[in-house]
Amino acid sequence: MDRDEEVLEAPYRLEYTYQRSTGPVIGRFLGALRDARLEGVRTASGSVMVPPLEYDADGAATGEPTVVGPGGVVTTWAWVTEPRREHPLPHPFAWALVRLDGADSAMLHAVDAGSIDAMRTGMRVVPRWQDERTGSIRDLACFVPESAAAAAAAAAAAAAASAAAAGDDRPPVTMFPSPVALDYTVTAGRHLSAYLRALAERRIVGGRCPVCTKVYLPPRGACPTCGVPADAPVEVADHGVVTTFCIIRIPFDAAPFPPPYASVAVLLEGADMPIFHLLRGIPPEEVRMGMRVRAVWVADDQLGPTLASIRWFEPTGEPDAPHDQIARHL
Ligand SMILES: [Zn+2]
Repeated sequence: MDRDEEVLEAPYRLEYTYQRSTGPVIGRFLGALRDARLEGVRTASGSVMVPPLEYDADGAATGEPTVVGPGGVVTTWAWVTEPRREHPLPHPFAWALVRLDGADSAMLHAVDAGSIDAMRTGMRVVPRWQDERTGSIRDLACFVPESAAAAAAAAAAAAAASAAAAGDDRPPVTMFPSPVALDYTVTAGRHLSAYLRALAERRIVGGRCPVCTKVYLPPRGACPTCGVPADAPVEVADHGVVTTFCIIRIPFDAAPFPPPYASVAVLLEGADMPIFHLLRGIPPEEVRMGMRVRAVWVADDQLGPTLASIRWFEPTGEPDAPHDQIARHL
């Protein structure tokens, strides 16, 4: 395939991090992990549940926290040969159900055994703690096969944490971040690929419908009004008119600038569809419909097949366009 016809692909991650409330029972469990201590809870029937929950399987409220472990027994396990980015260990490990000493239920966690040959049901394990603990399940880095050295290290970590916790005035754990992410591979298609490739050359290329003559930007394979291919390439200007805008005043993680800032729809000269971009170089309260603006491109060595090749738009200082000129493009 000719390079000019290659379809572009790019990774795309859709991600948001929730703040979840723990409730008092899980919060206490996470707070204990921060102190390098494993805790369960006693149920109405007298058994010890780990991790603790507010209610047992019969729906009865659970009672007082109970210290368990630190050692335990693997009751079942599965080997992970190719860890994913989110996994707790970067090398092969086991997911295992571990029944801690003093507990009647098993908890799921990772076991760093080094090799699948070192794993077996019934093996004894002890925790490996993170040095820096925040009140998260990840404070417990993993379990490791019990040996004299591992048991001594786990006991020393717990003793040090216990001593540090004695004068502890840290607040109880009530919230924790819960990231959710979906990884996609986005395929641009032929028309969008041509548009993106032109941006890497400081050109903006739309596609014209042969029937209604509208210039779509970005170009589309077909005119949604006429149902015919709209693939005649048309180069449009890198300046135009603000049709509509909004002022972003609420901060969020992916914001390009500290708010307030303006996001604008710009009708480029020669196009019939506005594109969306940022506007800089003017106080947000002075942005208005009809304002004439031009693209501010990135430096040559930063150009690429992306709309980010345009850093933002800025006012040209020319008189505003009359409303009639943009009325059909809102
Ligand atoms: Zn058309």
